[in-house]
Amino acid sequence: MGRSRTRRPAPVPPSGLPEELRTTLQPLLGDAVNDLEAALATPSPTSLRLNPAKPFAPSGTPVPWCSTGLYLDERPAFTFDPLLHAGCYYVQEASSMLLEPALRATGLLGDDIRALDLSAAPGGKSTHLRSLLTPASLLVANEVDRRRAQVLQENLWKWGGPNTVVLNDTPERLAATGISFDLVVLDAPCSGEGMFRKDPFARAQWTPGLVRQCATVQRTILPHAWDLLAPGGFLVYSTCTWEPTENEGQLIPLLEQGAEPVDPHFDATWGVQHTEVEGVIGHRCYPHKVRGEGFFIAVLRKPGERSGHRLRSDGTTALPNGIRADRPQQVVVREDVEHVVDATWAPVVEHLCRSTRVLSPGTPLWQLNGDRKDPHPALALSTLLDRTAFIPVELDEAQAIAYLRGEALPARDVRGTGLVLHRGHALGWVSGAGNRWNNNWPAPWRIRAQHPHAVRVSWSMTPAHR
Ligand code: SAM
Repeated sequence: MGRSRTRRPAPVPPSGLPEELRTTLQPLLGDAVNDLEAALATPSPTSLRLNPAKPFAPSGTPVPWCSTGLYLDERPAFTFDPLLHAGCYYVQEASSMLLEPALRATGLLGDDIRALDLSAAPGGKSTHLRSLLTPASLLVANEVDRRRAQVLQENLWKWGGPNTVVLNDTPERLAATGISFDLVVLDAPCSGEGMFRKDPFARAQWTPGLVRQCATVQRTILPHAWDLLAPGGFLVYSTCTWEPTENEGQLIPLLEQGAEPVDPHFDATWGVQHTEVEGVIGHRCYPHKVRGEGFFIAVLRKPGERSGHRLRSDGTTALPNGIRADRPQQVVVREDVEHVVDATWAPVVEHLCRSTRVLSPGTPLWQLNGDRKDPHPALALSTLLDRTAFIPVELDEAQAIAYLRGEALPARDVRGTGLVLHRGHALGWVSGAGNRWNNNWPAPWRIRAQHPHAVRVSWSMTPAHR
């Protein structure tokens, strides 16, 4: 989850802050620029966010602003942990988890809403949103870059939440659909200063020109984000940079269009810096103050009255095979895959299918192969899965890693479709072929890395879950 697919040679970053950035930060931080520089020379904290829909309870130190966030004392080789692949957690730096208290401030959590994550890959904010929204809420996760959209889709399938649509389109084309959302999250492409410590590439590629370029891109995306908001809806804007031109400066024009700033009133003990620039209320994370990376977040409300959504009580009454759901679902077939989505959202999803590039219009259930239907990899990982419909195949850690590498599993006299489980969490499918289970784990998701000496994940559990 959340891993990059391309291997780039690690650049040797120049040490210290670039002089031009120092000049930008001096008026914001004064002498504390030196403290920031010192903090950037220390190791990044390791943190992850647990999936409440796939409970397990490793020990760690809670992230104060996120109910599911944990700091770990070391950074193990997560790739070799089957629970990562089962979607039980997402490795995410902690400042980004401020999305949770920012969303609480909107008052939307608890309502069944339509939410859009406009630049969503690899899926940190989308998986978090999926956990924070009600299961019946619709989450549309969009990513403009095709390759990154595939990674987003994989991470959301593994997270397993229902009513999640994955798109690969531009903000402009999305806005042209005329569909509006109660919540739009724009975690914008940015100059990445906040990632200097964690990612040497961010430091190596930084130039003042990059800052100007990113500010221009943000200026083109934001009007579409605003158009996509329903009256009374909320925009959450975030970046991982400290540049005022990419942060508060981007939001000033929206205030001129009537946007109302919302202050989430973050707890002072978290160390997040509150800013007010020409009416825009922002919040900034600096690693010398916050146990996390550099980050900016702001919330704006669009004027007007929000009209709620009445969930439909009609729809497909007979549920497709293999799932359980307490609400009527609608089947949507796309590219020979049968998906389901809450019947309430079917018209919106069909509209999206007609007018944008949809990768998945809901939870994929069955791959249609002529007369045959095979369970889709996402079904095994979905919270809608009805496990009782399949043969359980529980694997220990070594077997689960072999499975995730794509190996067949020795067995005796097995037939039919088996559901692979590790520590009670579903992973994927196998097909019985007599003396072995054939492996149906998708080839692009296989573990390829060989790290015989890697620090393995060894979860010590909090007492209630031992
Ligand atoms: N929200 C993601 C998460 O939490 O995992 C991270 C998003 S990343 C900061 C910004 C994303 O914006 C990238 O995936 C990038 O491909 C996308 N992007 C780049 N240019 C864009 C554009 N012009 N319009 C929309 N998205 C763009």
